[in-house]
Amino acid sequence: MSVRVRMAPSPTGLLHIGGVHTFLFNWLYARGREGACLLRIENTDTSREVREATQQIQRSLAWLGIDWDGPVTFQLDAMDRCRELAARLVERGEAYEDEGAIRFHMPDEGVTGWDDVVRGRIEFPNEQLEDVVIVRSDGRPTYNFASPVEDMDDAITHVIRGDDHISNTPKQLQILRALGHEPPVYAHIANILGTDGKKLSKRHGAVSVDEFRVAGYLPDALVNFLALIGWAPDGETTIMPRAEIVERFTLEAVSASPGTFDYAKLDWMNGVYLRELSPEAYADEVVTYLRERGSDWPEARVRAMAPLVQEKVGKLGEIPAFTGFLFGDVAPDPAELDAPLLEAAERSLAGVEPWSAQAIETALRQLCEELGQKPRKVFAPIRVAVTGSRVSPGLYESLELLGRETSLARIRHGVELAA
Ligand code: GLU
Repeated sequence: MSVRVRMAPSPTGLLHIGGVHTFLFNWLYARGREGACLLRIENTDTSREVREATQQIQRSLAWLGIDWDGPVTFQLDAMDRCRELAARLVERGEAYEDEGAIRFHMPDEGVTGWDDVVRGRIEFPNEQLEDVVIVRSDGRPTYNFASPVEDMDDAITHVIRGDDHISNTPKQLQILRALGHEPPVYAHIANILGTDGKKLSKRHGAVSVDEFRVAGYLPDALVNFLALIGWAPDGETTIMPRAEIVERFTLEAVSASPGTFDYAKLDWMNGVYLRELSPEAYADEVVTYLRERGSDWPEARVRAMAPLVQEKVGKLGEIPAFTGFLFGDVAPDPAELDAPLLEAAERSLAGVEPWSAQAIETALRQLCEELGQKPRKVFAPIRVAVTGSRVSPGLYESLELLGRETSLARIRHGVELAA
């Protein structure tokens, strides 16, 4: 039987990275087994008006490269089907009416259990299971009914979801058996925690997919990072192409204990992914990123700037502040300037021919020798005058890209500010 899984987000607000982690495990499991991965919007507890959230979810998943098979489905569309099945259960005495609602009759004795792929055997004494409402008095099915009904109708083979649903599983198992359906395999994934051991939340940093996108993480880096929370192919491998993750992923290797979301590790990983891109691919990423942020920087100049920063930034979001001096005016701090030194630099750069990083380097190194000072000492005020900051991309390359006229004008302005 071929694998069929489902990603089942509730359409409440922005897609949370914890949810994405669970969806990613579904996706990896299906894609590594020529299985199907469905996208089902669980709107039983919300409303029909979930268009925006639904589009947001699809946009976020598409950006991450987590795709799905067939059309997106909505749980409330199974309403009639659920009511019909509920009526059948009532007829058979497996469910009963209670103040207009319909409740499922849970067995009073024995245990309900399953072999969870991640957590091993889990059992609940039936006396602990309440007679769960399956259809509300207003006629809407509840999540605990609609979800197993859809799992049955969609022929889901593996339910891979957050471990906050463990207590729902015995109820859903009983309902499926009463409907005459052999339940799917269950795998409950542990919640993601922050490095402080608390449930991941805004306090820790970005939590919605959109926030990660805006901060300038690459989808591949984020996917690689998320895949390694609670799963590891071995003790060592960290950077892994997506195809390899798909190939190596198994549910059996997923840990039952909560994984940690380490933002520092993600930043490191993102930097690795950014540096590994070809220069062209990197420039494409930068152009796309800036365009999405509404930047009006000319594309040709952005492409020329890209090689200056590829080795230097860990997130694309650092680029606007880091390279703004190439696209607009600067406001250097006069305290960081040095008039005599800048005048000397002005003189030495004025005659540089051609205006290339290499010729600029030769001239500036010569200047250091003439002044008998270390490059660090000589370059600092030049850097501040030209870029407005003590940290910048490579000085020679920056000067080259900025052009002779602008560079010299900024150095002159620096002399005046410092005087
Ligand atoms: N809609 C549920 C959630 O967002 C998922 C339930 C399930 O996978 O059965 O947590």
